[in-house]
Amino acid sequence: MIHIEPAPWRVMREHAEAAYPDECCGVMLGSVDEVKMVMEAVPMDNAAEGSKRAHYVLAPDDLVRADRAAAERGLDLIGIYHSHPDCDAYFSETDLKNSCSWYSFVVLSVQNGKFDHANCWLPDAEQTQAVKEEISWPKS
Ligand SMILES: [Zn+2]
Repeated sequence: MIHIEPAPWRVMREHAEAAYPDECCGVMLGSVDEVKMVMEAVPMDNAAEGSKRAHYVLAPDDLVRADRAAAERGLDLIGIYHSHPDCDAYFSETDLKNSCSWYSFVVLSVQNGKFDHANCWLPDAEQTQAVKEEISWPKS
């Protein structure tokens, strides 16, 4: 179960809509107890070469920096979010190929430039499948 607080949710949603029709990506920081609590979202550049409409790449340096920033603030790097412009919030083959089993992956579906729905995915270590993780976000 992953819960996203209002402030990071606003950041993620606005980022996804602003990047449309490209995919956006970023990281989620917070605490992990019985429930994963996302307290901060950090938008990052989509470092994909060529078209960014159907995939995203997080620069390794950005990820290292985010990890350090999280540690300095006593937070954990819980996972990674990205958007699917005009697509459902499913976990694609590419997403699976680039996944790590220790992160939660939130996918935001953006339809016609507006946020539509989101899902969270937990990939396995072999990168063969991802199961849905229950997610809650502020419904306003
Ligand atoms: Zn994707």
